[in-house]
Amino acid sequence: MSELEKSHLFYQSRQRRPRLARAEGVYLWDVNGKQYLDGSSAAMVCNIGYSNPHVLGAMRRQMEISTFGYRLHFETEPGEALAAKMATLAPGTLDRVFFVSGGSEAVESAIKLARQYKLAVGEAQRWKVISRFPAYHGCTLGALALTGYPPMTAPFDPLIKQMPKIPSPRAYLDGLDKDDPETGRYYADMLEERILAEGPETVLAFIVEPIGGASTGCLMPPKGYMQRIREICNQYNILLIHDEVISGGGRTGTFFAADNWNVTPDIIVLSKGFGAGYMPLGAVIAREDIAETVLEDGGFVHGHTYAGNPLACAAGLAVIEEIERQELMQNSLVVGAQLETRLKALMNRYHIIGDVRGMGLLQGFELVSDRSTMTPLPRDLDAHTKLVEAAYANGLIIYSRRSRGGYSGDHFLVAPPMIVTNKHVDEIIHKLTIALDQFGKSTGLGQ
Ligand code: PLP
Repeated sequence: MSELEKSHLFYQSRQRRPRLARAEGVYLWDVNGKQYLDGSSAAMVCNIGYSNPHVLGAMRRQMEISTFGYRLHFETEPGEALAAKMATLAPGTLDRVFFVSGGSEAVESAIKLARQYKLAVGEAQRWKVISRFPAYHGCTLGALALTGYPPMTAPFDPLIKQMPKIPSPRAYLDGLDKDDPETGRYYADMLEERILAEGPETVLAFIVEPIGGASTGCLMPPKGYMQRIREICNQYNILLIHDEVISGGGRTGTFFAADNWNVTPDIIVLSKGFGAGYMPLGAVIAREDIAETVLEDGGFVHGHTYAGNPLACAAGLAVIEEIERQELMQNSLVVGAQLETRLKALMNRYHIIGDVRGMGLLQGFELVSDRSTMTPLPRDLDAHTKLVEAAYANGLIIYSRRSRGGYSGDHFLVAPPMIVTNKHVDEIIHKLTIALDQFGKSTGLGQ
């Protein structure tokens, strides 16, 4: 955009972007006709691509019936149908679904549900929710208390009741082998240590992203970690909450990423790919007895006005139907493996790529100044912004944040819609290569 009009929109920063003209499949076009390949599904949201005709059709049909039905006044067909579908997809006895409109709302709802459950069973002294550092669980004040990303939490510290944190299992930084079960045990046992230090009788829940997202750049759990975490939570009667806001929805090859480790949490939170960008949608899926206990005790003291609205639920159901009809979870595994291989191959050409990690179509890579020590690039270089901008200029959208507590350690998420083909992967790698070359040249880092 050459000349920017004054806007009454409060953009979060001074940065302005071209105006969107339309979007279809894995591509978006701005009003100047420039095409962008969405290599990060927006912010890991648009899992089945844009303008899917089946989803649009389902939404149109629902709009003709009703665009809204307040949950305290009516039950709705799409709400019932989507909850029933979720109950079949969710592991174990997780078959009660509470709808919300986003990830932070889902996290807040999950911790309030956990608290009400423990109150109902006479364990009022439990209120601490242990999370990890770094981690991202949302930016509303309750979720921020769990988020470990100081650039976003520090300004609000006085408003937050900080929750205990344990280190995220960053084996690649600690020089440990993530495929060694000892490594998984080493990091998981940090949870037990923390529980004991806090006083087990005060701990309500542990919340974990099975595969890390924005704060860690697709951090994978080391071998045995997820299972050991489950054991520890069982041992101390602590609820295990899986935050699958990014990893849920199929892009790791299973609808819930945790299914890859056969671990059943007590509560799962979902959003992003669940509504896939068609409507704001999120969910808390809880063990049946948790929901029943809270109902017996008088009901869940919670709720957001727009939550569970029939239009969002109709869209969400149609998204899952498309994932199943087009076998997109299978595609995520096949094309995801190709994407991972191609990203790893870039390490031969670019010495600044220190690590490539992820699963299926949820892949990340991290830039470093020295791969042998994993020393991050100088913070002031602002690599996480510069590379994203170079890619954007070349018509490729990727997502970036910083993995070392948010202030350094530039990582990038490559998580295109689950409809991508091998040809799209070629295009992603081609454009990324151009961007890395330009970044290397402009920063003097070379390859
Ligand atoms: N949890 C995780 C793992 C996330 O990645 C996010 C958003 O990035 C959230 C929660 C918060 O979701 P939202 O931005 O929809 O509030």
